Amino acid sequence: MIDTHTHYLDAAFDPDRETVLAGDTIIIEQGIDITSSMKAAALARTHENVYAAVGIHPVNAERELPHVGDIKRLTAEKRVVAIGEIGLDYRYGGRDVQREVFISQLRTAKEYSLPVCIHCVRAWGDMMSILREHRPAGVMHGFSGSAEILHEVLALGMYVGFNGSSTNPRNKKALAAIRDIPLDRLLLETDCPYSVPKGAAAARCDSTLIGFTAEYIAELKGIPPQVVMDTSDENAYKLFDLKEKGHD
Ligand SMILES: [Zn+2]
Repeated sequence: MIDTHTHYLDAAFDPDRETVLAGDTIIIEQGIDITSSMKAAALARTHENVYAAVGIHPVNAERELPHVGDIKRLTAEKRVVAIGEIGLDYRYGGRDVQREVFISQLRTAKEYSLPVCIHCVRAWGDMMSILREHRPAGVMHGFSGSAEILHEVLALGMYVGFNGSSTNPRNKKALAAIRDIPLDRLLLETDCPYSVPKGAAAARCDSTLIGFTAEYIAELKGIPPQVVMDTSDENAYKLFDLKEKGHD
């Protein structure tokens, strides 16, 4: 099983990080600033089941602006498979800087032929115009956009990630997106420690709970959960080029 979006460097895992990482799930750990991106690359170096995404999250854009060029250096690490987590989040200010940092990292991804892991909250207008212009390969993680946006994201050739937050039945946009999305564009993720999926009795999310999200999706699509999991894995191998990066 591949968990395509995790935050195991979060303080929530300080007490037992090594134990949790000892499982056999393959994970793609996301950077949120330069420090966590360096740590994610180091984690990938020392753990056979870990790959890293390096990037500056929009909520850190203002603080990390001077380091945006340093992300390039980290792409040289062998097990860095994506630029992430990057994007726009208009619940927070500094929108001009967010766009600048996001676009700069989309250019880095193009330059180094890496896919991107994108976070978007309440910024769909600007997000779509930037994606139309830059056309990155990658995934819209924790997708919460409208049906119209979903179809445009798919037309751009991108993948769409779903996690525990997508399993909340009040999340009507996620529900519609799950029904609509072709299986060959779907990626499972946990975004752990955030987003405990529906049905899981846990205070903190981790990769072992990914099956709950797969079950929710499977039920909506009327197919077996195993098919959802296997297809997501195949998609992840393809998008992140995992075999090429030394895992079989
Ligand atoms: Zn995340």
